[in-house]
Amino acid sequence: MPVPQSPELIARKEAIREMWADGWSGGQIADKLGVSRSSVIGMVDRMDLPSRKTSNPIPPRRPSKPLPPEPVMPDEPVSLDLAMEQLTDKTCRYPHGSQAPYSFCGQAVTVDPYCGFHHGVCCPKPPPRVR
Ligand SMILES: [Zn+2]
Repeated sequence: MPVPQSPELIARKEAIREMWADGWSGGQIADKLGVSRSSVIGMVDRMDLPSRKTSNPIPPRRPSKPLPPEPVMPDEPVSLDLAMEQLTDKTCRYPHGSQAPYSFCGQAVTVDPYCGFHHGVCCPKPPPRVR
């Protein structure tokens, strides 16, 4: 059984309903009625008045960008097994072997002093930055 409401409470509710509909803020209504803002907000909530759209809505999250594709490593070229004396400015100087005499890749240089594959081996790109 609902609690009977005093005429003052009914009048206050009606005032809140009207001011809320006119666009007054909870704080403004509270000042006008001489009550706390939280009591106004509580009554607005209990009276099921429509909520306000905030003037500063939280922007929707941007969908995260897909990461750039991993750089494709070229296949390892066939080593020409050049000796050190055979190297020129145009031959890849990537060494093979674990002890002297070393042999060298010998493929065409694309990024000094290596071919594309061995440049990638020696100078890997840093992973893409994830924000
Ligand atoms: Zn090479």
